Amino acid sequence: AAPTTATEFARAEERTAHNYHPLPVVLAEAEGAWMTDVDGRRFLDLLAGYSALNFGHSHPALIEAAHEQLDKMTLTSRAFVHDQFADFCAELGDLCGKDLVLPMNTGAEAVETAIKVARKWGYEVKGVPADQAKIIVASGNFHGRTTTIVGFSDDPVARDGFGPFTPGFVTVPYGDLAALEAAIDANTVAVLVEPIQGEGGVVIPPEGYLRGIREACTRENVLFAADEIQSGLGRTGRTFACDHEDVVPDIYILGKALGGGIVPVSAIVADRDILGVLKPGQHGSTFGGNPLACAVGRKVVGMLATGEFQRRGEELGVLMRERLEAMVGHGVLAVRVRGLWAGVDIDPAVGTGRQVCEALMARGVLVKDTHGSTIRLAPPLVVSAEDLGWGLDQLAAVVTGG
Ligand code: PLP
Repeated sequence: AAPTTATEFARAEERTAHNYHPLPVVLAEAEGAWMTDVDGRRFLDLLAGYSALNFGHSHPALIEAAHEQLDKMTLTSRAFVHDQFADFCAELGDLCGKDLVLPMNTGAEAVETAIKVARKWGYEVKGVPADQAKIIVASGNFHGRTTTIVGFSDDPVARDGFGPFTPGFVTVPYGDLAALEAAIDANTVAVLVEPIQGEGGVVIPPEGYLRGIREACTRENVLFAADEIQSGLGRTGRTFACDHEDVVPDIYILGKALGGGIVPVSAIVADRDILGVLKPGQHGSTFGGNPLACAVGRKVVGMLATGEFQRRGEELGVLMRERLEAMVGHGVLAVRVRGLWAGVDIDPAVGTGRQVCEALMARGVLVKDTHGSTIRLAPPLVVSAEDLGWGLDQLAAVVTGG
């Protein structure tokens, strides 16, 4: 019998670890903002792979870049240099206004890389005594799933049962500049924060928070490492979420959309006085900076350099904000919007976030809940205004019990 959503979903559940709770849909094809399941049903994608698909599914320019590179060479390892590497580093560095790029694969790897670099910088440049380096993080953070990273999460689901954890992290309340400043001491090497907390439910800090962190870090000789893995690369209507406060961090941590939704590509981007602390053998990755990743990443950077996608994010975001704000008080408790990115707190009287997602799926819209009652909307930046409006019509209908 031909595979159906029911058969394939059951088979997947049977043979995978249950570290996710996916919606019961089995997708087979996708283009732009639309996905098609194995039963031939079409869905509007309002999640965009947690912002890994900022340019939509199968963007022709990205697919072309990938195909072209696939036919030439896919992997060299960093034991050798390949012909896409210098251009990728130069182009991404220029987009960020920084000297150097260190490519990795996943977001968590890039965060780990930033932690290692900040510590090494602390010992070798700042003069912090051996093994005393301290990194300040924020409550409600999400930086990935490695043992070190979950060790400084305050989400019990993410951390419980996975200790013992790496020491050297101090947590302060997100958005509280005074608490952050008070936590800085002579051994502090970095402040690591998301400019907007994505997994936390699109939590936007108070105006001036990022600027305040920048000023405190400069004053105290501490590195500001901005995790722009989810917030960056066009999502908020600017290249980086930090741009909204005209803030330039010392280290950009990038991932997700950097791989164009095709390959995992992450990177940290910083100036020579920081990234220059790494010497041969001290860090690396077999796949990091591979030719296919660099070819796709170069195209992503080139697309962002035009400003077109940031502009779309900003313009469509205005439409999305208007529609979502009109839902507040009608099945929605609160919304937080920045660019084409929103956290929507569902009134518990309507149902759980999960139930709303299932009802949306039945209407042909795919989204995912986070933290029980919040729906995160991150449509591909290529979505049409009409399709986005239709998707938001479906949300309005679901939250008002339509
Ligand atoms: N940092 C942030 C802000 C994220 O949103 C994520 C993923 O959701 C990560 C890090 C981890 O990225 P990855 O899942 O690629 O390891």
